[in-house]
Amino acid sequence: MPQQNTFNRVTDDIILALRLIVGENNVLTGQAREGYAKDETPNFTPVLPDVVVRPENSTSVAQVLKLANEKRIPVTPRGAGTGLSAGAVAVSGGIVMSMERMNHIIEIDVANFTATIEPGVILSSLCQEVEKHGLYYPIYPGEMSATLGGNVATNAGGMRAVKYGVTRNFLLGLEVVLPTGDIIETGGKYIKCSTGYDLSQLIAGSEGTLGIITKIILRLMTPPGRRDVVLVPFDNLEDAINAVPHILKEGILPIGIEFLEKDVVRLTEVFRGSETPLHNYEASLMIILETGTDKESSDLSTRVGEICLEHNAIDVFVASGERATDLMSFREKAWPAIVHSGNADIADVVVPRSKIAEFVKSAREISRKLGITTYAVGHAGDGNVHLAPMVPEGTDAQERITQFFRQVFELGVSMGGTISGEHGIGSDKKQFIDIAVSKEKLGLLKRIKKAFDPNGIMNPGKIFDL
Ligand SMILES: Cc1cc2nc3c(=O)[nH]c(=O)nc-3n(C[C@H](O)[C@H](O)[C@H](O)COP(=O)(O)OP(=O)(O)OC[C@H]3O[C@@H](n4cnc5c(N)ncnc54)[C@H](O)[C@@H]3O)c2cc1C
Repeated sequence: MPQQNTFNRVTDDIILALRLIVGENNVLTGQAREGYAKDETPNFTPVLPDVVVRPENSTSVAQVLKLANEKRIPVTPRGAGTGLSAGAVAVSGGIVMSMERMNHIIEIDVANFTATIEPGVILSSLCQEVEKHGLYYPIYPGEMSATLGGNVATNAGGMRAVKYGVTRNFLLGLEVVLPTGDIIETGGKYIKCSTGYDLSQLIAGSEGTLGIITKIILRLMTPPGRRDVVLVPFDNLEDAINAVPHILKEGILPIGIEFLEKDVVRLTEVFRGSETPLHNYEASLMIILETGTDKESSDLSTRVGEICLEHNAIDVFVASGERATDLMSFREKAWPAIVHSGNADIADVVVPRSKIAEFVKSAREISRKLGITTYAVGHAGDGNVHLAPMVPEGTDAQERITQFFRQVFELGVSMGGTISGEHGIGSDKKQFIDIAVSKEKLGLLKRIKKAFDPNGIMNPGKIFDL
């Protein structure tokens, strides 16, 4: 049996103490808590926290955590609640700490190419502000209303990972409040650091289980001159995936290479109420290029098209300007379109990118045997496949979906991949962690958690049980 921490409920006295720390208006009880009971995870039962607090600065975050630690009350950090793994749901009750008031951009440092921000800054606001200074933050997880605190805590990825990587690759430093109330700083406005363990990178992707992120330093860069999309249809997914290494081998580095299959294209067309070019083929690649000049753009998109045609592509469509933006927005709407079409769940497996076609084919076979319709869409350039099984009818529906997840996760891991590429484990996928993480490694993760959080109050019930 896993050892479970026992927690206490939030009493009237604790509510009074919280009001003294963050102010009466920033302690939400009763119905005001309802907006904080769920995130965007499909089919996850909402849980009302005992109380929601909205601190304004790291000092009050530290005071709340010190109190919660003394009283053994769980604390669940929350950004914008757009997560897809129930990381921000207070499954053990207690306090939800919403970072919505800590939403200031502290500094854009043009000389050092850095942004220093509070965790509640929304991704779209950061991108706009950075642009005003002639700079660029390239990490682009599809949901622009997410906070940067959430992006760091989940190590969010998205559609530009082939060239730029994921959130952790642009993370330079953090301020973090530990469950004991101690405040630490990690990293800084510099690239190199050989001064002990890299705690910024440990906290990136820790899903709020080690502490509350209260300040973030991000690396910025100069913006690209232009962005183009090369849309290439194929007769089947195998041919599409097989073309990808040939593009990369020539030294061409698109920001993203996405794959779409015909069934998802159809759903997305219905959802958006408009057609997309070359939509009648079994599979397509969407190759997104950022370049400095018109000539570079024309040379690269021509060469990408040629390479694809040399490897069984049927046609090539190059989109620039608004048409390119429209195609990228089409791709972004694939998941909302699947959700709109029925009761979809989601898996976020990552495999070595050469294995994508084989993985999708075998996952389809698993879903066929379980009598489940499954859509696949994802990031062909980085191996991250989003599988959307449609929850079937019947009393055994949940059991079949659980079977589906277990089998596709085992499949992904057996191919050298892992069970989440960008959404995190949260509460939703916690029961499958043993598929990806060995007993020895899990033991080490638990000891690390204990070192940060001796009483286990930080976001309990996420990633693994203690
Ligand atoms: C339509 C749609 C498309 C999406 N596309 C992508 C995509 O392409 N790539 C991708 O990676 N994700 C994607 N997501 C998932 C989601 O947007 C990301 O996981 C995002 O990083 C969550 O940010 P958030 O502010 O909403 O965090 P929340 O959902 O509020 O929280 C997420 C996790 O972070 C923790 N957390 C939040 N703030 C802090 C803090 N200050 N300190 C410590 N822990 C904290 C929470 O406890 C929780 O565990 C998508 C979601 C939707 C709905």
